[in-house]
Amino acid sequence: MDKVVALCKRRGFIFQSSEIYGGLNGFWDYGPLGVELKRNVRNAWWQDMVGSNDPWTVPDGAPTAYHMVGVETSIIMHPQVWKCSGHYDMFVDKMVDCRESKSRYRVDHVKGRWIEGKVGDAAPARLFLTAVADGPELDAALTQRALKLFGMRSKEADKLQWQSESTSLATLSFEQYGSVIGPEATQPGTLTAPRDFNLMFKTILGALGTDADAAFLRPETAQGMFVNFKNVCDSTRVKVPFGIAQIGKSFRNEITPRNFTFRSREFEQMEMEFFCHPSQSRQWYEYWRDFRYNWYVNLGIKSDRLQLRDHAQDELSHYSVGTADVEYAFPFLDEGEFGELEGVAHRGDFDLRSHMEGKLVKDAGGNLVVEQTASGEPKYRGSGKDLAYFDDQTREKFVPHVIEPAAGADRATLAFICEAYAEDSAPDDKGQMQTRVVMRFHPRLAPVKAAVFPLVKKDGQPEQAREIYLALKRAGIAAAYDEQAAIGKRYRRQDEIGTPWCFTVDNQTLVDGTVTLRERDSLEQTRIPATDVVAEVQRRLA
Ligand code: ATP
Repeated sequence: MDKVVALCKRRGFIFQSSEIYGGLNGFWDYGPLGVELKRNVRNAWWQDMVGSNDPWTVPDGAPTAYHMVGVETSIIMHPQVWKCSGHYDMFVDKMVDCRESKSRYRVDHVKGRWIEGKVGDAAPARLFLTAVADGPELDAALTQRALKLFGMRSKEADKLQWQSESTSLATLSFEQYGSVIGPEATQPGTLTAPRDFNLMFKTILGALGTDADAAFLRPETAQGMFVNFKNVCDSTRVKVPFGIAQIGKSFRNEITPRNFTFRSREFEQMEMEFFCHPSQSRQWYEYWRDFRYNWYVNLGIKSDRLQLRDHAQDELSHYSVGTADVEYAFPFLDEGEFGELEGVAHRGDFDLRSHMEGKLVKDAGGNLVVEQTASGEPKYRGSGKDLAYFDDQTREKFVPHVIEPAAGADRATLAFICEAYAEDSAPDDKGQMQTRVVMRFHPRLAPVKAAVFPLVKKDGQPEQAREIYLALKRAGIAAAYDEQAAIGKRYRRQDEIGTPWCFTVDNQTLVDGTVTLRERDSLEQTRIPATDVVAEVQRRLA
């Protein structure tokens, strides 16, 4: 992971936000190559979800053909949206404060191990030593802390009396907190009881600044589709089943943002709400779950690092009959652990109904009912608008069920970066094999598709190479031009950013009009006419 992060900074994929001021935790900037890569991820999603939609043909595995449209909705929405959606009351994480270090942590991000030991003058005790880390870093951090705490030397590490494997603080009961040594504490028992922390960023509308003017930055893009369901039905000719897609920024005030861009406070989502007849919702759920898993596979993620995990019944949101996560084995995780790339959820009619009727909760019988106050009023009122769908062919009126594939553009981009990173060897200018770093991006995602070089800076080669370079750019193909350094070095510079094809103008070009085409992965070199370069790249990208 350290190599990936270093490459991202060195080559201009991802920078820390406001880095010259020391950075801001949980915020990231995309550099010149990162912006192209992330745009390609978004474009691939949009093209495969919306652009290529064929409303007449039944796709393999789907019950019927369908329509797909897009929207772009506002980041700040009516506060009532979040009350009815449940985010206002329930979009919370459990957190603890440390009285000694004055730090705040998300309970499930604090990991630790039971150990027997003696802190200062206290009697030996069984303590739960913690750190905020994952994977191999966790064990290293815990060992360092234990040695320091018990005044031992590094070479005594094998004498530490660990009593358990590592586990999350969330698995402990509050009664056990007296034995917990917080991630930055020197004594046990400094953590407060866990309490709820709402992840929505609050802001103020207008100049008065009273609490009545409070609004929220959206924590997901999905609500923009639900509140526009009726507008889309009324303004287009789509019929159920159809989907509404959106790509846009979301914000969550994550308590412990970490693992590079994986958990940020500002991030981008690619979400689609698919509205269907309740009797077909299970089939559609299965269709979209498989479709979304295959999307990552088709863009080059190898199956042993990708998994589709069905949620257990007790993990499901209270309204869902099925949810699956597409997960990736990010290198910052433990061996065998996976991190969520995308959730595909069957949401039933929960969202449309809550925007009609008010915030819904499950009653004792498991039915969704409007939550009420002690005096029997709805806790939060819905819009009162009729969001049911009338099928003019069957004459049936119903509230559609929703299947939601919700992906993160930044997490997908990070997974594609991690997956692409490889080290192998390639010949240098003297034919000696040298180690090279190569980003094996799928050509659709590669930030630069083609690089053009003159072999030497004379004999009209630069002029010809620039002509090819500009022809590529005019055709809308992201291209690079480089005339600095030996040719082997230039190839390796392109390998390191994942450019699939390089074209070199050389002496022979002036004789027969051909250029060398060198491939990133196979290292194969062939010759093609200079006038065919644009068409050749287009053909390979198609
Ligand atoms: P997690 O459990 O990791 O916090 P989540 O289950 O809350 O994620 P969803 O609400 O399902 O996530 O959001 C859909 C997608 O949005 C996620 O699969 C992920 O790709 C992305 N996402 C969510 N939170 C973040 C974040 N803090 N930073 C980057 N991407 C995020």
